[in-house]
Amino acid sequence: MSKVLVIGGGIGGLSAAIGLRQAGHDVDIVEISPGREVYHVGIIVQANFLRALDQLGVADQAIARGFPYAGFDLRNKNGGLDAYIPGVALSREGHPTDLGLTRPALYDVLSEGCASHGVKPRFGVTFEKLEQSDDKVTVTFTDGTIGDYDFVIGSDGLFSKVRTALFGDTYTPTFTGQAVWRYNIPRPAEVIRTAMYQGVPGGKAGYCPLTDETMYLLLVMAEPGKPWLAKEDLPRLLKERLAPFGGRIAEIRDTVDFDPDQIVYRPLEAVFVAEPWYRGRILLIGDAAHGTTPHLGQGAAQAVEDAATLGTLAAQNLPVSDMFARFMAKRYDRCKFIWESSIQIGKWEMANDLEADVAALSHKVLDTVSAPL
Ligand SMILES: Cc1cc2nc3c(=O)[nH]c(=O)nc-3n(C[C@H](O)[C@H](O)[C@H](O)COP(=O)(O)OP(=O)(O)OC[C@H]3O[C@@H](n4cnc5c(N)ncnc54)[C@H](O)[C@@H]3O)c2cc1C
Repeated sequence: MSKVLVIGGGIGGLSAAIGLRQAGHDVDIVEISPGREVYHVGIIVQANFLRALDQLGVADQAIARGFPYAGFDLRNKNGGLDAYIPGVALSREGHPTDLGLTRPALYDVLSEGCASHGVKPRFGVTFEKLEQSDDKVTVTFTDGTIGDYDFVIGSDGLFSKVRTALFGDTYTPTFTGQAVWRYNIPRPAEVIRTAMYQGVPGGKAGYCPLTDETMYLLLVMAEPGKPWLAKEDLPRLLKERLAPFGGRIAEIRDTVDFDPDQIVYRPLEAVFVAEPWYRGRILLIGDAAHGTTPHLGQGAAQAVEDAATLGTLAAQNLPVSDMFARFMAKRYDRCKFIWESSIQIGKWEMANDLEADVAALSHKVLDTVSAPL
């Protein structure tokens, strides 16, 4: 049994803790936030996410708290159907190909999964120093404690401090040129899957069912210069940006009284670390290694796939260097392709590239993520 530290208790970190516990290891997690701090908005995931969650034993719980559906629609800016992209069944029989769920629901499922393995994050704590020797990592924590670990997982997200500790300033997230706007609204009974409305220069709008009662509106739009926007202006600015869209998006724009406190506006930043994602006994996973944009709804899936892969390898009692090398061999090309494809779609949107074939690229991505872990 190894002693493992997971730094960052988000989607990837909680998943990794479950996978490592399943493999029989002793796991500590530190999480810098003082408690659960997740946006109330939703997350769109596909069958490869559910397959990885199923390996961790918590897919049924996620499905029960979300809105299962099949595939998604690509629509023109007025709502006409351009293409239906069917989902690919990858998880167990009876599991959907696609799922919408709120971030708090996903967080609760993963936290309960950890708790069932006896793991509870230490909130409000992070590392101060990571010192590696041949056979361990000695970690000094911000609460003054010190611990020795066989290996350490850096799952501390896009702005990872573990990444900085390993690679200095080599990798810094950069603004992609777009921002995302998100807002939860009631779900009309006819909205039974995600739809994306394309063809407006700069981005797209869409919606995704989250529960029987709710769905969320999302807008991905170019925001040159990454402007800071005052909260009280957000409802007006959101409506302005939704002006070119018709169909159901226009209905939402014209009927919803947007509450500035409930609008989540976030400029998109991305980072990709060249292989390997480890130094010695410390490995980066999730957004810390390959933080991408949400254009393919694959960021969380890739974090959970990292965790499930790590769990499988950690059960094989390999030396840490072999385990990490095998991890890279399984994960690098897949994550790189998804990262690049997601960024590519954003570039097409910003260039208003009329030749862009988003449907073809989405199919290729589905083929890629269909390959076994
Ligand atoms: C606008 C937007 C929409 C998205 N929509 C989707 C979607 O629909 N589907 C999808 O699959 N993906 C989506 N994603 C991507 C997805 O959210 C991420 O890929 C996923 O959260 C990555 O998980 P992670 O664990 O690596 O990072 P995170 O979930 O960000 O978790 C990192 C954790 O580390 C903690 N932390 C940070 N620094 C430290 C530190 N120094 N010490 C300790 N803890 C620390 C943080 O508090 C956090 O809890 C979206 C992303 C954005 C920005």
